[in-house]
Amino acid sequence: MTIRRLAPEAVNRIAAGEVIERPAAAVKELVENALDAGAKRVQVRIEAGGVGLIRVEDDGCGIPQAELMLALERHATSKLVADAAGGVDLLNISTMGFRGEALPSIASVARLVMTSRAAGSGESWAVHVEAGAAQPPRPAAGSLSVSGTCVEVRDLFFATPARLKFLRSERAEAMAVGEQLRRIAMARADVAFVLEVDGRVALRLPAEADALLEGRRRRLAAILGAEFGPNSVALDAVRERACLTGFAGLPTYHRATREQQHLFVNGRPVKDKLLIGAVRGAYQDLLARDRHPVCALYLDLPFEDVDVNVHPAKTEVRFRDAASVRGLIVGALKHALAGAGHRAATTVTIGALGSFQPGGARAVSPGLGGWGGAPRQPMMHALAEESAAGAFVMPSARQEPETAGQEAEAAPLGAARAQLHETYILAQTRDGIVLVDQHAAHERLVYERFKAMLAQGGIKRQALLIPEVVELEEAALLRLLEHREDLEGLGLVIEPFGRGAVVVRETPALLGRVDCHGLLQDIADDLAELGSMEALTGRLDAVLSSMACRGSVRAGRRMNGEEMNALLRQMEATPFSGQCNHGRPTYVELKLSDIERLFGRR
Ligand code: ADP
Ligand code: MG
Repeated sequence: MTIRRLAPEAVNRIAAGEVIERPAAAVKELVENALDAGAKRVQVRIEAGGVGLIRVEDDGCGIPQAELMLALERHATSKLVADAAGGVDLLNISTMGFRGEALPSIASVARLVMTSRAAGSGESWAVHVEAGAAQPPRPAAGSLSVSGTCVEVRDLFFATPARLKFLRSERAEAMAVGEQLRRIAMARADVAFVLEVDGRVALRLPAEADALLEGRRRRLAAILGAEFGPNSVALDAVRERACLTGFAGLPTYHRATREQQHLFVNGRPVKDKLLIGAVRGAYQDLLARDRHPVCALYLDLPFEDVDVNVHPAKTEVRFRDAASVRGLIVGALKHALAGAGHRAATTVTIGALGSFQPGGARAVSPGLGGWGGAPRQPMMHALAEESAAGAFVMPSARQEPETAGQEAEAAPLGAARAQLHETYILAQTRDGIVLVDQHAAHERLVYERFKAMLAQGGIKRQALLIPEVVELEEAALLRLLEHREDLEGLGLVIEPFGRGAVVVRETPALLGRVDCHGLLQDIADDLAELGSMEALTGRLDAVLSSMACRGSVRAGRRMNGEEMNALLRQMEATPFSGQCNHGRPTYVELKLSDIERLFGRR
């Protein structure tokens, strides 16, 4: 074997394998170059999924004729400035690019024409490259009227046929390009973007003047759909040198995948484990484990506090103080969501309305696309048993029912008027009606009370007169006994009891009489699902959640007016009462105007 130095074209193709793995990646690099050049308007055109053509035109600063060839060379960049000693500061990167890899990589696997007119220059110049071989620049006939650059890439991957085989359908690749561009556009509301796919305009986003508040809101509405605004809360938090802004979706507005969690670090779209984990942590006890919130979060911090040079695609980052960043995100999200109180997602109402109307939910779903699926319809679980729920005592309302009703109507959840099917509470508000799932709502209240008690130093226990023996399968028992101390802190005292059984001595007083077997089974299931990796708090929350579920008013229990109103008032006063612990809404609201629409009065 002989060791040989690889030719530059080969080096570039290898790099291309990493940086440009599909058309969307080429679009990302070209658009980021445009933004780095200070463009205010970026026009992207693709044909045949981007394999036929990718054309990105910008009105940025352009490239002087003398530098056109250099721009196409590997490791040539205008974005890192060497210091006196010849070193560069890789911890102070304010541009999207810095590796000097994108253009040579793309040019090595395709046919590329780059036309540019530098600011202050009267003429445009063009360079042609084919599979890495460049021709010297030639004057281009007045194609660009202002300064700017246009990069045209044809026959992407023609020089690396193996890569072509791995591409998906044209449609799938075109969709990936759209996703990529939307992601970038979410971070730069101040820039106008247009995407044309096979001659048709697929996306047109005007530049917004106020790129931080209203402008960003409008940009997000254009990309994530108009529903996102009313179903999200704004964030604005600072911790040490980092600042977090953006919008977080209400927990009731959830998705089956993480696709709609958009995270930006200093304006760069990232898919970072730490950030994703922080978001998950913040929503942990508000959502079922297989559901994911929607959010657009913008983290800004001094450039030297974050390392973006982790991966060629630059979508991962490393933070100097990861714990602080995590704390900022979890804290800000929890705070903002608690502020949203009992607000449930409007999509729940929209979905409900839709199912009333002829034609089904389709009739009113906003059809803006990009959300990946219609809002999930809650299936209220009807637990039939008439149980020990009576042990949970409602605080009694002292007022006369009549006056109580009038005052209550002014409250957000209104005055209880009826109980339907012994499962739902129907309430009247000033301008509409509210339908509450009594079990889901109560479960949330019990859960929040548990958490409050826990925070205040402990959950009251009550000793069982006759300790109850519970038989469970061996694995479940082991898991429970392993967490015996945690459970004791939560008010549940168990002891081993021979083979295959435990004895329950004390239970949380808040639960009243409780079905011990069901409770232990639920907790064991939760522990099994979470495994031992999860943080202690995660386990506690899951256990609390099972306990709350077991200890709540069952569907199927009759409630009187006072009890129902007391429940509504408690919901209003309790954080997160808009959804149960599984992210299902606890109530839906129909405004009178919605009802009028149902009857065709509007
Ligand atoms: P990087 O962006 O990491 O510097 P690239 O290969 O993407 O590397 O680009 C090389 C250089 O070409 C950039 O540093 C920049 O000076 C110049 N360049 C590329 N695209 C543009 C553009 N659209 N407008 C102005 N300059 C550009
Ligand atoms: Mg670049």
